[in-house]
Amino acid sequence: MKIAILGGGITGLTAGYYLAKKGHQVTIIEKGEVLGGLATGFKEKDWDWYLERAYHHLFASDSDILNFAKEIGYKKIYFNKPITSSLFLVGDKLSAFPLDTPIDLLMFPLLGLIDKLRAGIIILFLKLSPFLPVYKTMTSEEFLKKTMGIKVWNVLWQQLFRGKFGKYAGIISSSFIWARINKRTKALGYIEGGFQNFIDYIEDMLKRMRVSILKSCEIKDIKKKGSKFVINNIEYDKVISTLPSPVLSRLASGLFSKEYLFRFDKLKYLNAITLILETDKPILDKTYWLNICTEKIPFMVLAQHTNFADKKNYNGRHLAYVGWYVDGDSKLLKMNKDEILKLVLPHLRKISNSKFQISNSYLFKAPWAQPIFDKEFEKNKPDFVTPDKNFFIANLDMTYPYDRGTNYAVKLGKEVIELI
Ligand SMILES: Cc1cc2nc3c(=O)[nH]c(=O)nc-3n(C[C@H](O)[C@H](O)[C@H](O)COP(=O)(O)OP(=O)(O)OC[C@H]3O[C@@H](n4cnc5c(N)ncnc54)[C@H](O)[C@@H]3O)c2cc1C
Repeated sequence: MKIAILGGGITGLTAGYYLAKKGHQVTIIEKGEVLGGLATGFKEKDWDWYLERAYHHLFASDSDILNFAKEIGYKKIYFNKPITSSLFLVGDKLSAFPLDTPIDLLMFPLLGLIDKLRAGIIILFLKLSPFLPVYKTMTSEEFLKKTMGIKVWNVLWQQLFRGKFGKYAGIISSSFIWARINKRTKALGYIEGGFQNFIDYIEDMLKRMRVSILKSCEIKDIKKKGSKFVINNIEYDKVISTLPSPVLSRLASGLFSKEYLFRFDKLKYLNAITLILETDKPILDKTYWLNICTEKIPFMVLAQHTNFADKKNYNGRHLAYVGWYVDGDSKLLKMNKDEILKLVLPHLRKISNSKFQISNSYLFKAPWAQPIFDKEFEKNKPDFVTPDKNFFIANLDMTYPYDRGTNYAVKLGKEVIELI
């Protein structure tokens, strides 16, 4: 059977592998010059490893991608325990505190003992609890205020939600906080060579399996001619779309009813922006991941990548990400690299102990990067099956209640082909 996979991110590549293994004739159609979608990386001439456009790591609980890597003979994933902390404004001083373990929480100076015990018990409960229907009925803010108390919400969570979800922070379903705590592990995984190395490995394997891969090939619309789908003038028997739901809604308007597609237009997303800085000294001396928990600093995260992956793989350069999730009308989206650099630099100087100099920088902006799991999300998100029995969807909206991630991309790619 001739099957088109729309989108060459990790979901599309995984689906391509399992379909080719079943003997189908598969074509992956990707608009980017390289495969990998949101997990794509880039490499300077003198770097041995790729660097992701947006920070990426795995959790030890990411069993789908770990099992998939094993199945395809990919052995380059390793785990370690880099330092992660959160930055707070205490009086007029910035202070970072680790918040990963029960001991970290007990030592955290900005909450009283009762609040910390209460927060610790709820975190333990969320870690052990299966997904409960009650999580769908409350927002994360309501849940956390009710269970951990208003003080804990104000001190510990409010800024994290603001950074991650911006103006939508108050409407995120408590399914999100359950999934986040339930799956998180202290050990973080990375890929020797970067995530793009894994993507390149899959691409080579797919080519050997005779999967046709069309890169720099934007799908402009999807039509039907008799029982066949016509995409960029080529006919297919079946289609799997891994495109963002609103993109599919636009491309497939001749295929599905307005009523069916309308729900996808109700889904909300944020764009991701990352500014990558190459410096002579590390901006953060030992910490990999620094959550920003104060409104006084105008970004969400500072991640010193080379405190996680050795700088020797990047010809000795120190590399750090500054990251944001922003709404479509954010002025950051219109700003260029120099303007963003000018905005963040004074704050990086306040955070850093070193007198680092920036030798190079990169700016990336990605649309449809963070779905907003509000209480309506589950009702409007797509399912694998559509009103057309030969057209299937597997995209990052379907990782709900888990936040999108490469692990769930693999899971979706594997599951969708079972229906074909
Ligand atoms: C800032 C950020 C940080 C992240 N951090 C992590 C992390 O630490 N760990 C982790 O596991 N995951 C992380 N993720 C999530 C992870 O990258 C995604 O969940 C995963 O890559 C999604 O894969 P996908 O194939 O489902 O979707 P995508 O990667 O979005 O793939 C869809 C593909 O469709 C293509 N496409 C779109 N329109 C068209 C068109 N018209 N024609 C042809 N092709 C088209 C796109 O170019 C893209 O390649 C992060 C994501 C972001 C944005």
